[in-house]
Amino acid sequence: MNAVSAPSPSPSPSPGAGPLHATHEVLNQPAPMAGHNLFDLDPALRDAITRHGAAFDVPNLRALGAQLGLPEWIEHGHNANVEPPKLRLFDRFGHRINQVAYHPSYHALMAESKRWRIDSLAWVDRRPGALVARLGRSYLMGQVEQGHGCPITMTFASVPALRHQPDVAAFWLPKILSGAYDGDDRPAPEKAGVTLGMAMTEKQGGSDVRANTTQATPVSARSGPGAAYRLVGHKWFCSAPMCDAFLTLAQTPRGLSCFLVPRWAPEGDADALQAEAFGGATRFTRNPIWVQRLKDKVGNRSNASSEVEYHGALGWMVGGEGRGVATILEMVAHTRLDCIVGSAATIRQVVSQAAWHARGRSAFGGRLADKPLMRNVLADLHLESEAAIALGLRIGRAWDEARAHDDGARPSAGPSDAAPGSDSRPFARIATAIAKYHVCKIAPTVAYEAMECLGGGGFVEESPIGRHFRDAPVNSIWEGSGNVICLDVLRAMAREPESLSALRDELSGRRGLDDRYDAALLALERELADGGDLELRARGLVERLALQLQGAVLLAAAAEGAGQAAVADAFCASRLRREGATRHFGTLPRGVAVDALLERCLPA
Ligand SMILES: Cc1cc2nc3c(=O)[nH]c(=O)nc-3n(C[C@H](O)[C@H](O)[C@H](O)COP(=O)(O)OP(=O)(O)OC[C@H]3O[C@@H](n4cnc5c(N)ncnc54)[C@H](O)[C@@H]3O)c2cc1C
Repeated sequence: MNAVSAPSPSPSPSPGAGPLHATHEVLNQPAPMAGHNLFDLDPALRDAITRHGAAFDVPNLRALGAQLGLPEWIEHGHNANVEPPKLRLFDRFGHRINQVAYHPSYHALMAESKRWRIDSLAWVDRRPGALVARLGRSYLMGQVEQGHGCPITMTFASVPALRHQPDVAAFWLPKILSGAYDGDDRPAPEKAGVTLGMAMTEKQGGSDVRANTTQATPVSARSGPGAAYRLVGHKWFCSAPMCDAFLTLAQTPRGLSCFLVPRWAPEGDADALQAEAFGGATRFTRNPIWVQRLKDKVGNRSNASSEVEYHGALGWMVGGEGRGVATILEMVAHTRLDCIVGSAATIRQVVSQAAWHARGRSAFGGRLADKPLMRNVLADLHLESEAAIALGLRIGRAWDEARAHDDGARPSAGPSDAAPGSDSRPFARIATAIAKYHVCKIAPTVAYEAMECLGGGGFVEESPIGRHFRDAPVNSIWEGSGNVICLDVLRAMAREPESLSALRDELSGRRGLDDRYDAALLALERELADGGDLELRARGLVERLALQLQGAVLLAAAAEGAGQAAVADAFCASRLRREGATRHFGTLPRGVAVDALLERCLPA
């Protein structure tokens, strides 16, 4: 189905709804939003996918969009969260097993994300645009359920880190990239596919991982990259503890280093414990990674997040000794990119729910969707959705080009905003941090405003918006909290001047297309030139950079159609003209093409 018609208020009684209430008929309630194609219904996604080189994946995205619109998949998203994971520390004989039991819907979502290769596409498909295609799939899946995306993202992002250590990667990469899901608690060699987690954060410091106290000691005379170690210490957050292995930071005499720590460890002498022997091992025991408890979280409930202790757990060093942070650098870039696109998915889902509700609900003699002030709110919210996915996939394109550059300058896949053959990594690096700050931070606000569009019904747990609202803040908190990300942008500007130049090129490339954009860029340049109190001003500066970048990306797309032109115009009119004032949604100025925005939000 390409478009959706207005949800008719539920008839009374609806077929199969049972007898009438004794006191009243149920009137003026929209039908649930289901049975639509999440891809076909989303012009912003379709435009960005094509624009950024992933048109080849449209048939897959369309099939996935149709699948995820089915009531059964919406139900899986709901079920995985209302019945949260449960910790089973011991079996009935008293053995410590550290298992987490999930609702079957969680496993269904995991298996489907694996099958659609959301955890592997860009690594198994070297075509230009494959990373953008993967992000498109992840964006669709994130609209149905966000929590299981945590291990899927970590698994995907672990690949660049593992490639630092070929003797460890030799066993693990094929299992990661297999597309198979096996949620059983068994040694990895017995499984067709595996998932990977990350264990960095400790009680005394998460942002500042240099404060980690977990110690790693070699099991034999061999030490350094690839060697086997025993780890002792704790991790204060370790999500998805049923993963088959965890990339873990721990201290050695040369400093913080990265280790792959499997859930099940081989038994035997020092030789049997070496990384190369892992795939051929036949005797395994549970690696002593003791789950202490599961976190009781505000949201993100389908995803078990645990506290763990390593009681001499076996692990192999990945990357250089003392180079732990450098080893996980690209991994962090990919998890941050997934946070951006995950937040874009949240924004899209809640805004489309709000628009759907407004079409099916009347008040004061007319449909909410026809009331000018509600139209302003919805159009304004939708702008946020357009800007989020457009920027997310633009940055995805840059990482894709960086991948191509590494592979040896493959041809470009479509209209590119970067010079052919150039290394897009400097742009990707700084733009990821800028977008991570802004898109992840605005998502909870959008979710709250979308919730209000549903009135009181938006604030009950049965509404899908409540879950997305509770899930939304975490993308801003993990993988670099807001302040830390802003400081990272400053660091990139100071230490990697090529990042700032690449950003400036992107921004100045759109000069001359819109006066408001040009004026904002001038003001931004003045701010950048002022080196005083940078740390104090970092949030304001990064927010302006993000808005300017979103403006640039939307203006670049505006030449491609009237819909995109209306979006870019509305964005410049509402986001680039205002000076630092608190801004609520529903304040689009007169003259903005609200009709065109709403048509893109939910095609009639
Ligand atoms: C649901 C969930 C799941 C998670 N899963 C994992 C996981 O699987 N593995 C893992 O390793 N971690 C995980 N984390 C942990 C997460 O990555 C950390 O919570 C995060 O990095 C912040 O670290 P912290 O909690 O120690 O806060 P802190 O580092 O103490 O930061 C507290 C606040 O101070 C700010 N701040 C820090 N430094 C500065 C500064 N120099 N100037 C100004 N402000 C500053 C931060 O922005 C933040 O707002 C998870 C967290 C959550 C909520």
